[in-house]
Amino acid sequence: MNDVEYLKSLLGVYPDFPKKGVVFQDFIPIMRDPVAFETLITHFMHHITSHTLRNSQSSKIDVVVGLDARGFLLGPILALRLGAAFVPVRKQGKLPGKCTTASFEKEYGTDSFEMQSDSIKPGQTVVVIDDLIATGGSAKAAGELVAKQGGKTIEYLFVIGLPFLNGHEKLDAPSYSMIQAS
Ligand code: AMP
Repeated sequence: MNDVEYLKSLLGVYPDFPKKGVVFQDFIPIMRDPVAFETLITHFMHHITSHTLRNSQSSKIDVVVGLDARGFLLGPILALRLGAAFVPVRKQGKLPGKCTTASFEKEYGTDSFEMQSDSIKPGQTVVVIDDLIATGGSAKAAGELVAKQGGKTIEYLFVIGLPFLNGHEKLDAPSYSMIQAS
């Protein structure tokens, strides 16, 4: 079993959570195992240094943007290892001060994400991270916030991808999902 297969074997899979028809993919069990968690972070670091930076012809990543809420569990660790800033994207109304806002489609109606103004300087290179990409709506909104502040998203990173939903097609930069779920 390779590293990614091992990490996949640790996922919690919960049919009909939080509602009927959704198969919830829980990566939190990986965090309970320090060796597995280290493997996950190291895998992302290896991907970023050997693939993301090379393909984008960038010399470094300036900012890691983490999505509310499970992106907050991964983003700060990667940011520290990369020597990058960490910037949270939160649901509307949670961040103080002036904010940049972007809306996205949910199954029923719309939702909005916010980033504190001036979090990203024009021209800075950004990776966006979340635990999972489904429809891609929330990652797309995060990418819009980065663009509104003049940043350049060079990749979207996810622990888990649901390829059958084609969420990556909505995004303005390449995406990488470490584990493919079905
Ligand atoms: P989307 O905007 O449709 O790509 O949805 C992605 C966001 O919703 C992520 O922040 C995930 O944490 C959460 N999410 C959506 N579907 C699932 C799922 N099947 N299992 C776990 N989290 C999910």
